[in-house]
Parts: sequence; C-alpha cells; structure tokens
Amino acid sequence: MHIVHLAAELSPFAKVGGLADVCQGLYKELIQQGQKVTFLLPKYACIQWDGKVEKLYPFSSFFAGRWQKNQAWILPWEGGKLCLLEPLSLPLFQGPGIYEFSSALSEIEHFLYFSRSALDFLCQSPFLPKVDVFHVHDWHTAICPYLIQTWFIDSPLAKKKSLLTIHNLFYQGSCLPSQLQLTGITPNHLLPKEEKYSLLKIGIESADWITTVSPTYAKEILSPEQGMGLERSLNHQKQKLCGILNGLDAEDWNPKTDTSIAFPFSADQPIEVVVAQKKNNKKMLQQELQLSIENKPFLILVSRLVEQKGLDLMEKAIEAFVALGGQVLLIGSGACPQWKKRFERLKKHLPPHQAYFHFAFDEPLSRKAYAASDFILIPSRFEPCGLTQLIAMRYGSIPIVRKTGGLADTVFDVEDTKVGSSHRNGYVFSNYEEQEMIATLKRAFFTFTSQKEKHNTLMEKALSYPSSWRIPAQSYLHLYQKLLS
Ligand code: ADP
Repeated sequence: MHIVHLAAELSPFAKVGGLADVCQGLYKELIQQGQKVTFLLPKYACIQWDGKVEKLYPFSSFFAGRWQKNQAWILPWEGGKLCLLEPLSLPLFQGPGIYEFSSALSEIEHFLYFSRSALDFLCQSPFLPKVDVFHVHDWHTAICPYLIQTWFIDSPLAKKKSLLTIHNLFYQGSCLPSQLQLTGITPNHLLPKEEKYSLLKIGIESADWITTVSPTYAKEILSPEQGMGLERSLNHQKQKLCGILNGLDAEDWNPKTDTSIAFPFSADQPIEVVVAQKKNNKKMLQQELQLSIENKPFLILVSRLVEQKGLDLMEKAIEAFVALGGQVLLIGSGACPQWKKRFERLKKHLPPHQAYFHFAFDEPLSRKAYAASDFILIPSRFEPCGLTQLIAMRYGSIPIVRKTGGLADTVFDVEDTKVGSSHRNGYVFSNYEEQEMIATLKRAFFTFTSQKEKHNTLMEKALSYPSSWRIPAQSYLHLYQKLLS
C-alpha cells in the first residue's frame, strides 16, 4: 500500500508541537510495518537538509488564477520518501519559523497553496508509486479531500481514499470565499454559500474517514462544550469518526540513547539504578539552571503557553509546589506578552533558586528536564491526546494531569480502584479547579518525600507504559485497508 501524508509539521524538520512528533512516529512505524510512505511538507526556509537529494523535480501548480512554478526536493528519509515542496513563483514559507510568514500572503493562503500544489505534484510526478490513501492532518491540508472530489475529479487522483486526522479541533483554518477560490475552487463546486468557511469543516465533510488522536477526545468533540462549533458536522459524520491513541517514537524518545542527557537509563534496569541516574541528571540540571542542589521533588511543565494548556492553573501550581518545598522548571513556548509578564511577576515572588522559567521552544532542555524531573504537570482545559505525559513516563517522570481527552486515556490515578493496579501510573484530578489540583499536587509531593517505595512503584509502571507506535499504526493500517476494500 502507498500512503501519502500531507501535513504542516514533521519532526525533526519542522516542529512546534505534538503534530510533528505524531507525523514522524506514524511515518516511521508504517514503513517498519512494510508500507510505502511518502510525506509531503512545505519547504520552510528554516529546514536545513544536508543529506542526499534523490531528485529535484520541477512542477507547476494552480493558484490565484495561474499556473505557478515549483520544485519538489525528493529526499530518501527513514526508508520512505520525504518531498519538500518549494514554491518558486511566489515568496512563500520564507519566515524564520514555521508559522511565521514574511510575505504578503496570510497563513491560510500559504497552506491553501501548499495543499493545492501537493495534489498537482502527485498528478505530475511519474516516479511515485500510485497513491492508495491520502492521509491529511489538521486544517492545514484538510481542503485536499474536497479538491480531489472537485478540481481533480478527472485526474489520476480521483476516487482515491482520504483520511483526515484531527489533532486539535480548536484550530480550524477560517477562510474567506475569495481565499478558497485561489485554489481553483469555484462557486460551481457546490459548497453551500457562507461568509467564512472552516477548512477543517470542509475536510470533515469530504474525507472518507476521520480520526482523532484519542478515543476520549473522539467522544468529547461531539458535545457542544468541546465541539468548538463543529459538533453538528461531527455528529452528522460520526459513523466515519474514531479515536486512535497516539504513540511515541521509541527510538527518538529513549532515555538510554538520548544524547541530550548525561546519565542515561532504561526501563530494563533495576529501579534503584534508574533512581540514581535520574538523581544525577537532576543535580546536573540544577547546576546548569542555578537551582539549589537538593533532592527535592522536582516538577516540570513543558508546554506551548496557550489557554488550552491551563495557564491559570499552571501559575497556581508553581506557587503551591514551591511553597510546599519543591522545585519547578517551566519550559514554555509561544506565550503572549501578558502571560509572559504574569509568569515573570510570579517568579519575582518565589524564593531564589527554587524555580526556573524558560520562555522558548527548547528541545534539548526539555529532554534534560524529562530525564531529571520527578513529576510533570499537565492541567489542560482540553487535550486531544497529549504527548508530554507519554514522554515524561518514558523518562521516569510521573504525570499529574487533568482528566480530559487523551490524558484520561493514558494516565490513571494511583488511588483509582476502578482500574487494575497495574494501570495506575500517575495522579489525576477531574475538574478544572485550583483546590482539586493542589490537593493532587500535595498527594504527589508527600508520596515522593515520605513513601519512597510507592513512588518507585509508580515510576516502574510509568517506565513500562506501552506507548510505542506499533499498535496505533496497526489501527491506522486496518482503517486504510477498510477504506480500500
Ligand atoms: P501540543 O501538540 O498541543 O503542543 P503535545 O503534548 O501533544 O502538545 O506535544 C507537545 C510536544 O512539543 C512534545 O514533544 C513536547 O516535548 C514539545 N514541546 C512543547 N513545548 C515545548 C517547549 N517549550 N520546548 C520544547 N519542546 C516543547
């Protein structure tokens, strides 16, 4: 089977959040399981490729009423093909970061261009095997199934099956009719008249199947509270919607081989060894960040700093955890100036050398933090899947999470008698509420300080949590096969 993925992010080339990790992990595992996989990604100016280039393939794509010049960089990557699509007629994807655009065209127009050019490229490239399934991710490429059924209806792409994965329903790609028409879609193409379109909604209504990234989120998004205005469409299409829990790329996120960490460890070692190595990593990081060097409970937050992630609860948690006598490291990206100021103000009120705030996207530091920490806090308002709890567990850091979306599917409270004891791998609070969260933080804190064995048992369960891509990739494969049959 030949599966073509189209997305805005792919780790390690272009990453802002979990979308990049998921695309990388799924791509690699599908290849492992014997499939042909091609990944189409915009050629962002920030991508540095110093490996082999198999082919530079010129092609044209339709946009804004004319055929535009492009070239595809076809690269052999991890046993499949990565194609970076570079527009030549227009200055697109030239900004310093992946969602930072320097040209006059908006973000929407960039990804409409990319989606359309990806389909034109696939039509024109004679050397790629015949496509069986298009797998598009999030709003950025959600227009593709619709384009295939309209503009490309007489092309070799017509009647190909398409799957849309919703990684986060909050981001929908709101689009004016005039912007949509740039791709060649015309009023004849029978979209109901609207003042604004949601690209994600068009994808939901035209893809052959829809997945989201956890079973709980798949249910939550059908409700008005979590449907972000798309619940009617989703309910209408729910016979073709399911949730497949994300995995982790076990090779990429491996505390045994991770070159960012000084004292490697693995789940196969005795827990005493893991505890000792983690303590050494903690000491190194405390030194690096000028935190006081003590074996105190060490809590991390690694997150985009947006409302979804529970910023006000994060603020309260940091204050409370330090007041209990613990240390906190916040690695946060994308904060708006107001929130950055709020966190900076909080920092001034905390005792010295007990908290460190780093406002950047910093993967090497995040890896050290996962390896050094005792706990990670994820107090999200909603969380489609969440990867940081999975990464943290692999690095022996216990998740403290709010019970929502994928967090509810992967973390089970140490005291939760409704699940078997072997599944209880963390701390969970239900409501988005400060007191409930602080009570949960206290339980975690005191278990670490006064019930070492209980904490170590939790660590063992976290370390052995089965987060590989093997099972989820099999579920995607079954779905592709079902679509084709
Ligand atoms: P989301 O996709 O909503 O941002 P996920 O939990 O699914 O959240 O994935 C987040 C991914 O991005 C993880 O790999 C996490 O380590 C990484 N990440 C998030 N914020 C930062 C940051 N500030 N620095 C480094 N990595 C980060």
